[in-house]
Amino acid sequence: MKKIKIIGGGLAGCEAALQLAENGWKVKLFEMRPAVQTEAHQSGNLAELVCSNSLKSKLQTTASGLLKEELKFLGCKLLPIAEKCSVPAGNALAIDREKFAQKVTKICQSHPNIEVIREEISKLDDELTIVATGPLTSAKLTHELIQIIGNKHLYFFDAIAPIVATDSLDFSKIYRKTRYDKGDADYLNCPFSEEEYYDFVDALNSAEKHTAKEFETHFFADIKFQFYANCTPIEELARRGKDTLRFGVMRPVGLEDPKTDKRPFAVIQLRTEKNDKTSHNLVGCQTMLKYGEQKRILRKIPGLENAEFLRFGSIHRNTYLNGPQILNENLSLKNKPNIFIAGQLAGVEGYVESIFGGLLISKIIIENFQKLPQTTIAGQLWRHLVTAQKNFQPMNANFGLLPPLAERERDKKIKKQKYAIRAIKDLTEM
Ligand SMILES: Cc1cc2nc3c(=O)[nH]c(=O)nc-3n(C[C@H](O)[C@H](O)[C@H](O)COP(=O)(O)OP(=O)(O)OC[C@H]3O[C@@H](n4cnc5c(N)ncnc54)[C@H](O)[C@@H]3O)c2cc1C
Repeated sequence: MKKIKIIGGGLAGCEAALQLAENGWKVKLFEMRPAVQTEAHQSGNLAELVCSNSLKSKLQTTASGLLKEELKFLGCKLLPIAEKCSVPAGNALAIDREKFAQKVTKICQSHPNIEVIREEISKLDDELTIVATGPLTSAKLTHELIQIIGNKHLYFFDAIAPIVATDSLDFSKIYRKTRYDKGDADYLNCPFSEEEYYDFVDALNSAEKHTAKEFETHFFADIKFQFYANCTPIEELARRGKDTLRFGVMRPVGLEDPKTDKRPFAVIQLRTEKNDKTSHNLVGCQTMLKYGEQKRILRKIPGLENAEFLRFGSIHRNTYLNGPQILNENLSLKNKPNIFIAGQLAGVEGYVESIFGGLLISKIIIENFQKLPQTTIAGQLWRHLVTAQKNFQPMNANFGLLPPLAERERDKKIKKQKYAIRAIKDLTEM
């Protein structure tokens, strides 16, 4: 029987483990938690989602939705489990994270071909191994990887959004609505007047924050402090301009208040954490403000004046390798080809993208999978990891990755539909 070690029982590691095990491989899945925790995980469960509980859109006309369709076509194991754990979130696939992680843990632990071993791995040997230790790879293993790849290692930080208790919210101010009334009204909306908005922005700008300096020495002395665009903290957005937030994460379009029929000046949306709707996260409000400051400033959000914070936002390390420099086409290390890299550590960004990373690596190992159609999001994400480029950055699913359609299409919606039809057709004919 073929044997393989997988290091990291996160999204990529579990997807790969289940794929390989189902194909008759004996898998040793190493997970360091709960004995050694990361800065963001909170349990000992496998496949824990560390921040948002959303796996983004289900619609094929979005890049994330299309990637999901592609993954289902390729036989993804984790997405069907996620669907069984879904909570209401309009067109998005949001999930009860505890239920999902518990289910995945149980399935992996009870699989006859998977042995889950709770151990931090700090050395890589000559056995066939997948490293799927994610953005919070332990320091010891990161040092080992640096030894092997010769310090071609990049890192950056991103930040986590706070969670509040639903029964502490003021529903005389907050209303339920999904943007443009698309799908069910699953989001809670906190409407700002002009005065309230600028007061909030001023408060963010004068708040006490953790400085880059404090984090620079946290993990490695030579870390460069930079944000990835999708994870920029709310106070950093406020710093960039007084209207940046209301044209971005706080944009009010399509969110008219049903009580007045008027569009607020700005809106912060809350999304449910669990099916019982007892807690909500502040969508897009990742922050690195000090906890006391978060409490003070986020309570300025209309409807959150007495909010109980179940989790504060925080800043986290996010580690990834410079794939194009150090990986072969099959995502093995050039310097040590028995080691394969999967998930966010390889340079994809996002939950679904990381699941794809696990699926891809297992297909490469099981079937000697050589390529995916370039018209698919999945194919382009793979290409991204191994194509030389300046300033390599992790990549999430987006239509910008895809080659243009054969015929120009001006209507954006139809264009996306055509991308999706082309991708699925090319996958089918692969
Ligand atoms: C703070 C933070 C917030 C994020 N928020 C979002 C979000 O809201 N939405 C989104 O789409 N993406 C988000 N991401 C990005 C990314 O999608 C997730 O981190 C995703 O879980 C990555 O999947 P993965 O399988 O690569 O790694 P993970 O899911 O992190 O799994 C890696 C596993 O390896 C284990 N491990 C680490 N080192 C060792 C070792 N030496 N030995 C044994 N085990 C080890 C860890 O404990 C962990 O369980 C976030 C990332 C971070 C860091």
